Amino acid sequence: MSKKILILPGDGIGPEIVNQAVKVMDKLAGEGLDIELDEALVGGAAIDATGGPLPDTTLDLAKEADAILLGAVGGYKWESLDIAIRPEKGLLGLRAGLNLFANLRPAILYPQLADASTLKPEVVSGLDIMIVRELTGGIYFGQPRGVRELDDGEREGFNTLVYRESEIERIMRVAGDIARKRDSRVCSVDKANVLECTELWREVAVRVMEKDYADVELSHMYVDNAAMQLVRAPKQFDVMVTTNMFGDILSDCAAMLTGSIGMLPSASLDENGKGMYEPIHGSAPDIAGQNKANPLATILSVAMMLRYSLDEAAMADRIENAVNKVLDDGLRTPDIMADGMKEVSTEEMGDAVTAVL
Ligand code: ATP
Ligand code: MG
Repeated sequence: MSKKILILPGDGIGPEIVNQAVKVMDKLAGEGLDIELDEALVGGAAIDATGGPLPDTTLDLAKEADAILLGAVGGYKWESLDIAIRPEKGLLGLRAGLNLFANLRPAILYPQLADASTLKPEVVSGLDIMIVRELTGGIYFGQPRGVRELDDGEREGFNTLVYRESEIERIMRVAGDIARKRDSRVCSVDKANVLECTELWREVAVRVMEKDYADVELSHMYVDNAAMQLVRAPKQFDVMVTTNMFGDILSDCAAMLTGSIGMLPSASLDENGKGMYEPIHGSAPDIAGQNKANPLATILSVAMMLRYSLDEAAMADRIENAVNKVLDDGLRTPDIMADGMKEVSTEEMGDAVTAVL
């Protein structure tokens, strides 16, 4: 039976970059990849059409799909809305509604783009790390939370860092499984010297990995040191696994090591390997509608989809090889343009990857 892919273009550059990824999928579909595409509204586009960022019809289609490709959401137009009905709420609703608890963020430095990093070549050349971030728990969701007024009239803000053992265990398994397909090393990042919750995190990490992933090397690092090591010597890492908040921060840090925000894909997976795939960058309203956004992060998100949700690793390799080929050929969107290279538009880049395929 063909696999159902739901396309959620979203806002800003979302529709432009998603179109290029759809070209790539159509090409592969013409060569035997058995997929069926559908499309729905999310984010600001959904607010304009329906009054809310995540219509029920979109969530229902997302639940039925085998995988979802998302562009990006948000833009100036919706910035004054109440936080509860902003475009970004659409994303959070999808993550929660689909129980996408594992966020995978590769940080890869393409050798063709080595100059884009602000770090020295010897520090970053060949960089290839995977950050596995817990996405549905921790301090971003823990109760109680809020701002309250105290007896003396001063206000106090509070949030709760909480993880169940089962939540820690399942994210460790994701990290262990991915490490096996890579260099078999997992670094678990916590703050076990200060936070009891992450003391438990470390304990469960050891238990799960010793029991079921004895072939994977496990190490631990406090988050402050991990941030420092990422910038000092990032190539020491293979897979990093961490909590929701630490992962949010470290994955942005790791992405910037490559200097190419338009090149990095991401995946958010549920317990059965179903996933939502999207570029790590936002909707880039400053360049929307100008046919100059880099579509490669979105195209590489399709490669991740093939690898992690559709069990089509060979097709994923083909996309990644095609991206490497267009970079080798010197094609560059403005964000990654350099001397002696050929500047192309969003559309031309999408066409070039499709042509190589
Ligand atoms: P969000 O809050 O949605 O993460 P953001 O404020 O972090 O958004 P982005 O939308 O990611 O910001 O954009 C940051 C900068 O990077 C902008 O100048 C934008 O134009 C640029 N940018 C982002 N994505 C791309 C892309 N695919 N191609 C070219 N430039 C991009
Ligand atoms: Mg951002």
